[in-house]
Parts: sequence; C-alpha cells; structure tokens
Amino acid sequence: MAKQDETTMWPPQARRNDIQDKLNGMLVDAIDRIQKGPAAPAVDITDLRRRIGQFDFSAPVAVETAARDVIDLLVAGNVHMMHPGYMGLFNPSVAFPGILADQITATINPQLAVWSHAPAAVEIERYTINAIAERFGWTAVHTAGHFTSGGAEANYTALLMALTDRFPAYGEEGARGIPGQPTCYVSAESHLAWLKIAHQAGIGRNAVRLVPTDGSGRMDADRLADMIEADAAAGHIPFFVGATAGTTNAGMIDPLADIARLAAGRLWFHVDAAWGGAAILTPRTSDALDGIKQADTLTLDAHKWFAVPMGAGMLLTRHEESLARTFRVAASYMPGETAETLDPYTHSLQWSRRFIGLKLFLSLAALGWQGYRRHVEHAMDMAARLKALLEAERWSVVNDSPLAVLCFVDEDTGREPGEIAREVVAQGTSWISAAQFEGRAVLRACITSHFTDEADLQALLSALNRARTRLAGQA
Ligand SMILES: *Cc1c(COP(=O)(O)O)cnc(C)c1O
Repeated sequence: MAKQDETTMWPPQARRNDIQDKLNGMLVDAIDRIQKGPAAPAVDITDLRRRIGQFDFSAPVAVETAARDVIDLLVAGNVHMMHPGYMGLFNPSVAFPGILADQITATINPQLAVWSHAPAAVEIERYTINAIAERFGWTAVHTAGHFTSGGAEANYTALLMALTDRFPAYGEEGARGIPGQPTCYVSAESHLAWLKIAHQAGIGRNAVRLVPTDGSGRMDADRLADMIEADAAAGHIPFFVGATAGTTNAGMIDPLADIARLAAGRLWFHVDAAWGGAAILTPRTSDALDGIKQADTLTLDAHKWFAVPMGAGMLLTRHEESLARTFRVAASYMPGETAETLDPYTHSLQWSRRFIGLKLFLSLAALGWQGYRRHVEHAMDMAARLKALLEAERWSVVNDSPLAVLCFVDEDTGREPGEIAREVVAQGTSWISAAQFEGRAVLRACITSHFTDEADLQALLSALNRARTRLAGQA
C-alpha cells in the first residue's frame, strides 16, 4: 500500500493522539452549541445537499477537516436528542459511559457472530442480558436473549419465534405451511412496526388485529377475548398477542396480567416494553408491570430510557430452544458451537454482529442500579411537575400514565395540536410533537433527556403559552 494511504488508514501514534484531541475539542464544543441553540434547527434542503456535495471523493481531505465539517452539518441539520428541551420520541440524551463504550467497540471491533471469535464480548452480553432478566424476576437458567438493533428487530424476532413454535411447517414452507389464516393481536395504540413485521414474516399485514383500547389508551382485554373467539369461529388461527408496556403515544401499560391469563396455553404472549420496561428500575412503578414475568418474549430498548446511544435493543425469552429452532443454520465456514456455548448467529436475526451490549454493560457498571433508578425517577418527577405546570395554565392532560409522557390539549383556543407544536418548535427552546390519543389530536411531551430540569419545563410552558397567544391573534 502507498505510504500515504497507510498513514491515512492508521496514522502514527502522535498524529492519532493529535486527531483524537482535536475531535474531543470539537465534540465538547458541538454539545455546547447544541444545548445553547435550537432543539430543532430549521433545515434548508438545497443548502444541506450542496454542503454535503462539496465532499469530492476524488480529492481526499485531512480527516479532522472532514470530521469538523460533518459535525457542523449535524449540529445545524438535525433534531437534537442531546438538547435538554427535546421532549420527543423516546430517544434519549445519551449518558457518557455509553459513548465511551461505542468508542471501545469501534476500536477493538469484536465479531460476535460466533462465540469462539469473541468469547469475552459474547459473555459480557450474556451477563448483561441475565442481569436485566433478573430484574423482571426471571432466573438466568431459564432466560435466553440477545441484543438487537432496536425494538422493532426484537419484536420481529418474537413473532418469528411464535410462528415457528406454533406452526411446525412454517420454518421449511413459510406461510404456505400454515393451515389457515394466522392472526395476531396488538392494541390500536401499539407500535405499528407490527404491520411491517407481519409483512416481513410473510403472514401479511391483514394478520394483525388491532384490538380497541378501553378509553384510557390500554388494550381492552374483553374485546381481545371477543376477537380471538370470533377469529377462531371463522376458522382462523389466533397464535400471538403482543401487549404494550408503555405505548408510544401515551406511555400506557396494557393490562398485562389479564392478557397473560387469556393467552395461557393458547397464544404466544409477548410484551413490547421497548421504552416502558425501564419502569422496572424503580419500585415506584414496578407494580405497574405486574404480569410481565409471564411473557414468552419481552422487548426492551436500551437506546430509549436506559440512555445509551443507538442502536441497542434487547429480546429476552424463556424459550431458548425456540430461538435455536427459529434461527438454526449451519454454515461450513463458520466455527462450530460447544456444549457450553451458544453462537449468536444461530440464535438471532443478525449474522455479523456489533458489540451492542457493551453500551449497557458499561453504563450499568458506572451508574449502578441506584444510578439508573435515580435517572428514571428524575424523568417521572419532571413529568409530574410538567403536568402541574400545564394544568395551572389551562392545558389539560388527557392521559394517565405512571411513566414520563404527557398528552395534553389546549382548553382555551382549541387550536389544532399540530399547529401549536410547530409554533413551539419554531421558537427553539423545546421540541414536542402532535399525536393521536384515543381518537383525539393531542400534544405530546415525553421527558427523555437526563439534562431536562425545571428551567426547561418553564421554557416549554412559556413557548406553549406564546404559541397559544400568537395563534389566537391569527384567528
Ligand atoms: C420504539 C418502540 C419500538 C421500535 O423500536 P426501535 O428501537 O425504534 O426499533 C417498538 N415498540 C415500542 C413500544 C417502542 O416504543
């Protein structure tokens, strides 16, 4: 290799140190600019594409110059999860240990497809999965699981396991091997990745039954029972129910124990606790998750309330043999398993695997369960405080979640929530969104940043009030 390329691929140590120092400086400055600037900068797509197009790959530039330009693009051109006023879609301001973990992972780059290539990394992941499973009352002996790219992959994994478990021919023949129309049940407030997942799994989007909610955003268990009976009577084959613990819109927790009872002996019982599963970290809300222990499979996202960088989800299960049946494959060029060890590639969707779990392991090591408990409780406290502030100014909160997300409407002007959200975001201090809750348009604010404090809540309230006044002025 040409000397020049070699020193670009792997510069001498002094130069690497120098670049790292510069990068650190740039990132510290970037966080500072992000937190002082707008949570969601306005983006001009023409300008953005022009700036990106200035990178001409035929004329290489110094890596620190390119990195600086990229960081500038990101600061000016993204919605900012690291902003204390970002009260958005479950993705967090990340905690520092997780950033370090990703740096370690990228630098050492272990390959976790097979145990024998990365014993240390695979065992660290296994240990972390077991530690999390124990929080849910599962013992390590009976638990299996792995890290995923996110909640959607974990949910997809659960559905594939259920299909493979219930329909012996599914693995070899696909959906054609199923003797009828399989049906699965999630609530109307569930994460609609379920539709994509049914499509991907080959059973089709129509297999997904959206069970009505009970007026409070939780799955109506009686309606679930009726729908299962009606489908069975029509000759369909109900096989799966996915309860949500922490709905995306409103943080509501489906009646897990009731659903577990309905599913027992008949349907695969999955719980999608991608965001809300973190409620297990504080005794305040651990009761709200009653019934979760009965789950056949459980989805959690570390890149949500556990505050690690994307992408880091988890799939936990009490059925290791089912994972093995679903993902079995033997490739002659892959090193084999031993009696004591499992290969991730024969037990999960991915093949080559990044060391995803280190982000959570290092964060747990540095924060401890107590640190995580305080983190989760802080978000809940902030949500409770925001609710009081809103209600004192005639914004009414319409959901009753024990977690940290509020859905609310303007009592005064009745202006459309989408319009209000746009007005708020344009002011820069906060990011909130509009959503639908129980058939009603609402504003939605979720405490997702560990940086969020009282001043940020006040800033949101002022922005909301200003938006209301401006829109009233236009009416
Ligand atoms: C975020 C979320 C998902 C999807 O997870 P990704 O990490 O985005 O793949 C699924 N279900 C629920 C309840 C979620 O909150």
